[in-house]
Amino acid sequence: MALLGALVCCLLVAGHGRPGLGLSVAPGGSPGPAPAVGQFWHVTDLHLDPTYHITDDHTKVCASSKGAKASNPGPFGDVLCDSPYDLILSAFDFIKNSGQEASFMIWTGDSPPHVPVYELSTDKVISVIANMTATIRSLFPNLRVFPALGNHDYWPQDQLPVVTSKVYNAVADLWKPWLDEEAIRTLRKGGFYSQKVSPNLNLRIISLNTNLYYPPNIMTLNETDPANQFEWLENTLNTSQQNKEKVYIIAHIPVGYLPYLSSTTAMREFHNEKLIDIFRKYSSVIVGQFYGHTHRDSMMVLSDQKGSPINSLFVAPAVTPVKSVLQKQTNNPGVRLFQYDPHDYKLLDMLQYYLNLTDANLKGESDWKLEYVLTQTYSIEDLQPKTLYGLAKQFAILGSEQFIKYYNYYFVSYDSSVICNRKCKAYQICAILGLDHSSYVDCLKQHYIKYHP
Ligand SMILES: [Zn+2]
Ligand SMILES: [Zn+2]
Repeated sequence: MALLGALVCCLLVAGHGRPGLGLSVAPGGSPGPAPAVGQFWHVTDLHLDPTYHITDDHTKVCASSKGAKASNPGPFGDVLCDSPYDLILSAFDFIKNSGQEASFMIWTGDSPPHVPVYELSTDKVISVIANMTATIRSLFPNLRVFPALGNHDYWPQDQLPVVTSKVYNAVADLWKPWLDEEAIRTLRKGGFYSQKVSPNLNLRIISLNTNLYYPPNIMTLNETDPANQFEWLENTLNTSQQNKEKVYIIAHIPVGYLPYLSSTTAMREFHNEKLIDIFRKYSSVIVGQFYGHTHRDSMMVLSDQKGSPINSLFVAPAVTPVKSVLQKQTNNPGVRLFQYDPHDYKLLDMLQYYLNLTDANLKGESDWKLEYVLTQTYSIEDLQPKTLYGLAKQFAILGSEQFIKYYNYYFVSYDSSVICNRKCKAYQICAILGLDHSSYVDCLKQHYIKYHP
């Protein structure tokens, strides 16, 4: 069903030019026949390591292994290293040659490598972001890209400030080709912006700087509304509501609880509660939320205070395969394509693509493949909050095959033998269903797990 939809879309798009932008717009600018589905790409956590190179001394393959021996380094990377340029290029080459027509791309941050603070500088961080921006621009000259800043897109890492900075100014200059004047103005001021996807679409992207709420960020300690972003977000959503627009929220650090830890929010709990309040209040305006940062593939369903599902949220896996020496699991590199209804921008489906890093290194060529189609793999209708809520309830059943799939996809099919025990499963499921403190605690209780902050 979904694949057929994609095919119809592309045939229609091929009919009237304008590659990459404004699917529902005919070349003359007047509204043409709307295509059956709209599509957009989501890429995140590129984490380029410019030092990556193949050498006999495996401790010297990449700075991001921090002196550890790379495990099995090849042309497309190593699980103890951040991305070589060739891995990132292979991802974008795949997107370009996939045959999928997309009306835009979202890019949710974290371009620099995981290396000690003293190995980077403001100029080095800016040059990595500039490199990634130039790479995307050269491959997709006609595609509009909506970026969000990540906690690594700053020096020192995580310390994104509440006032203008060299990095905010640099990205505002770099991203000018994609963004309008008002977006550039707030990006310079606080690292966030909102913009309509195109003048003819009633869809607005709100790109939040959720790094301001990240616990390690000492610039925002004890601040209730850093950079007045909450106030700005409420005003922006209010205006969208009045103008009958729909909104996609994009950001790096996700709301909600981390699926792999017990009782830990990705952002400060206070800021998480505040953001959830706003998202609940404007759930009829917000038709999708897209995040990165965890490097894993997961979803969340926001419910209102009475427990009814009202919003679907998606965390995309990283392009970098990096893990620490102590971690057993990591993710294969991934990129994803969303499909939406061009009339109301509701999400219809998601296609997750990935690179089997081991195979790619063995063959010496990158063979990016479809990992799964969300509606097909779980036999569901669409990506609406009620549908995903029902799916999460199926996951909770003892021995659920659906959940076994979900947990394998969580690591982008890195290790299909991986097992999630009863506690692990409860944390995964409560991270999907409990986004604020009280609903998370309630969820754990239902799974006979105590809340341990
Ligand atoms: Zn990251
Ligand atoms: Zn991050």
